[in-house]
Amino acid sequence: MNEMNTDVVVIGGGPGGATTAALVAEGGHGVTLFERNAEPTFKVGESLMPGTYWTFERLGLLDKLAKTAFPRKYSVQFFGASGRGSAPFYFNENNPHDSAVTWQVLRSEFDTMLQDNATEKGAKVVRGAKVIEVLFDGDRAAGVRVKMPDDEEQVVRSQVVVDASGQSALIARNLKIANVEPKLKKASVFTHFENAFRDDGIDEGATLILQANDKNVWFWYIPLPEDRVSVGAVGDIDYLFADRSLDAQEIFDRELEKCESVQERIRDARQVMPMQVTKDFSYRAKQIAGDGWVLVGDAYGFLDPVYSSGVFLALKSGEMAADSILDGLAKGDTSSEQLGGFQEEFLGGMESIRKLVYAFYDKEFSFRKFLMANPDCTQGVVDILSGDVYTKDVTPIFEPMSEMCELPTEDF
Ligand SMILES: Cc1cc2nc3c(=O)[nH]c(=O)nc-3n(C[C@H](O)[C@H](O)[C@H](O)COP(=O)(O)OP(=O)(O)OC[C@H]3O[C@@H](n4cnc5c(N)ncnc54)[C@H](O)[C@@H]3O)c2cc1C
Repeated sequence: MNEMNTDVVVIGGGPGGATTAALVAEGGHGVTLFERNAEPTFKVGESLMPGTYWTFERLGLLDKLAKTAFPRKYSVQFFGASGRGSAPFYFNENNPHDSAVTWQVLRSEFDTMLQDNATEKGAKVVRGAKVIEVLFDGDRAAGVRVKMPDDEEQVVRSQVVVDASGQSALIARNLKIANVEPKLKKASVFTHFENAFRDDGIDEGATLILQANDKNVWFWYIPLPEDRVSVGAVGDIDYLFADRSLDAQEIFDRELEKCESVQERIRDARQVMPMQVTKDFSYRAKQIAGDGWVLVGDAYGFLDPVYSSGVFLALKSGEMAADSILDGLAKGDTSSEQLGGFQEEFLGGMESIRKLVYAFYDKEFSFRKFLMANPDCTQGVVDILSGDVYTKDVTPIFEPMSEMCELPTEDF
C-alpha cells in the first residue's frame, strides 16, 4: 500500500473541514483534505447565521459571497400554531453593520467555494477520496487509510487528524464517545419548490419558522437563488414515522395539511426535488480532542436545525481548531490538552443556543409572551439568533426564561 506524509489530515470538505484546512495551510503547514464526494453535491443546511461573517472575513471570502446570487437574509420570523407571525427579528436593528446580514446558500456551491479557498491557501484538496479508517498508535491518532479516487488505498501519516466528517463522526463513533440528546430525537422531510411566495424588500430572504396547528412539527421556509424555496418539516422521529405505511412525500403532505401558512405560500408552486428524509438527532462527543486528533463541526456535535446554527458552529469550531493546531505545531505539542484547549469556550456558545432550542420545543413557551414580559431580553434573543454567542454575554436571559420553560442542564 502507498504511504505519504503530511502535517495535518482533514477528513471532510464541509464548512468545518474546509475552514480548518484553509487556516492551517495559510499558516504554512502541509494540509491534505479528503472529501468523499467527487462532485459538488446537494446538502441540507442552507440558511446561515450572521455570526458567520467574522469567519468569512478571516477566510477572505466576503467579496466572493457578495458577488453570488445567494439571497440576503436580514431576519428570522416565527409563526405560531394559530398561524400568527411574530414581528421579524431583524439582526441589524441594533447593529447597522454588514455583519448583521447574511446569506441563504446552495450548499453545493457554498461548500465548493470554501474548498477552493482552502486550495488557494495551499491545502491539497482531494475530492472523491473516502477515509476508511483513522489510524492510531496506541491512543495517539497517527493518520488515515483512504480509498483514493482511483480506488487504490493509501495510508497518509500526519501529526494531527482533524475529523470534520459531519454526521459520519468517524472518530466519535469509533471511540464510542458520542452521546445522543434523548429529548431532541428529531427527523425531517424536506424538498425544494419553485414559484413559491416570497415576501418583498428586505423580508424576501428571511427564514420563516412555522408551527403546524397541533405543534407536533414545525416547517422551515428558506428562500434560495433562482426562485427556489427550501421547505422542510421537523418533528420527533417517533411521531413523524409512527405510521410505517407512509412514505416521505405522504408524511410531508400529511403535515402540510396542518399548516395553513405554509400551504398558502406554496399554493402556486411546483415541487422540483423528490422528498428527502434525514435524522436530526442532537448529539455531542464527550471530548473535542485527543492526542493527535481534534473534532470540528458536526463531527463533534449537532444541535437541532431550528435556528440554522450548524454551519455557524462548524465554521467557528473550524477556526478555533485551526488556531489550536497552529499553536500546537509551533510548540511541537499535539496533545489532547493543546488541541482541545478551545472546548470550554466553544461549548459555552453552543450551550446558549441549545437552551433556546429547548425553549422553542416547550409547548407552553412563546417568544411573544416571553418578550412582552421581559422586553429587556429582546437583544439577548436576537444575539443568539445572530450567532453572537462568543462576542456577547447572552446568559442573563436564561434566568427569566427558566421561569417560563424547562431549560437543559449541561450533561445529557
Ligand atoms: C434537516 C437539517 C436542516 C439543517 N438546516 C441548517 C440550516 O438551515 N443552517 C445551518 O447552518 N445548518 C443547518 N443544518 C446543519 C448543517 O447542515 C450542518 O451542521 C453543517 O453542514 C455541518 O458542517 P460540517 O462541515 O461539520 O459537516 P458537513 O457539512 O456534513 O460536511 C462533512 C463532509 O465530510 C464528508 N465526509 C463524510 N465522511 C467522509 C469520509 N469518510 N471520507 C471523506 N469525506 C467524508 C462529507 O461528504 C461532507 O462533505 C441542518 C441539518 C439538518 C439535519
